[in-house]
Amino acid sequence: MEQSVELLGLSKAELISFVENIGEPAYRGRQIFAGLQHRRLRSFEEMSDLPKDLRARLNNLARASSLTIESRYVSLDGTRRYLMKTHDNLPVETVFIPEERRDTICFSSQSGCPLQCTFCLTAQLGLLRSLTPAEIVEQIVIALNDAYGVGEKPPRGTNLVGMGAGEPFLNLDSLLKALRVMADPEGLHIVPNRVTVSTAGVVPKILELANIPDRPHLAISLAAPTDELRNELMPINKKWPLGELLSACKEFEKTLKPSERFTFEYVMLAGVNDSEEHARQLANLLNRHGLKAKVNLIPHNPADPLPYQPSSEETVERFKSILESKAIHTYVRRPRGRDIFAACGQLAARHGTLIEANSIGA
Ligand code: SAH
Repeated sequence: MEQSVELLGLSKAELISFVENIGEPAYRGRQIFAGLQHRRLRSFEEMSDLPKDLRARLNNLARASSLTIESRYVSLDGTRRYLMKTHDNLPVETVFIPEERRDTICFSSQSGCPLQCTFCLTAQLGLLRSLTPAEIVEQIVIALNDAYGVGEKPPRGTNLVGMGAGEPFLNLDSLLKALRVMADPEGLHIVPNRVTVSTAGVVPKILELANIPDRPHLAISLAAPTDELRNELMPINKKWPLGELLSACKEFEKTLKPSERFTFEYVMLAGVNDSEEHARQLANLLNRHGLKAKVNLIPHNPADPLPYQPSSEETVERFKSILESKAIHTYVRRPRGRDIFAACGQLAARHGTLIEANSIGA
């Protein structure tokens, strides 16, 4: 079982070679691809269009799924959080966020995270391991099946954000592989244009992504306008300081499509990074680098062991108006699913017993 191939991480072409290697005709590969990616089936038994003996062989050689759902939490605002386990018993969390015109699925790229951002609960897990392409795809399959039923077409568009646990740019190859698989029109058909990947600032990977033709959108987590403060909040800044990070962003900007922008995420921590001076410093920093980016202000989502509080609404509004007065497009992110520990920075394999009760009738 440990050695078996994870079929959910294979493209259609790879699945066809896989079946041909075991002496089956190519169309079986296409059937299996459709079974996994279009019908979103999570076992070979359910693929009744395959002969029984092939299903039995597949069971010995390969896996149709590998994550198990441990808990599911439903927020009062409709957001759902899934706590899953990998085959080697590591936590994976995924958040499904319904919105009026689309759904957003926030997936994890790693179990835990090696970065030590002081405001993020996931950091406390440390890195457990990077997820495979199949484990990334499976999170989306599980969330869509739970929201709409197995294989049912989602009524709205599906956007993906790589903002769950982990640093996507430390697992970029697997992530890009998963995105290529999911883009297939005969499968999930979620194209890179509907995907945003967020990084704490792994500079070489920003440059690498810039050169990929069919790439997802980019978001950068800033959290501070000066190296001094950013070193403290996001230690990755000591490796790639703001100057290098923003120069890489400038390079990336050259590859944007005319209507495309990239985003800076700025978590607002009361009394730490939310003063008027910080706002001016942030605006000047972005303007000095000539970046036409937009800024998303994220009120901090508090969690017990974290030493921060969210900035007040007035502080966030004042911060926003200073940025806007300096021609920076600024949005305030509404936190979703805070009550079930599903909001940004809250993913740390928590069991929310109280809310779990809520989900039973949902
Ligand atoms: N490692 C990646 C993706 C995961 S974090 C990155 O750093 O971008 C996704 C977003 O959540 C980041 O913008 C991060 O700054 C934000 N975040 C982390 N902890 C948070 C918290 N407690 N409250 C609000 N936002 C938080």
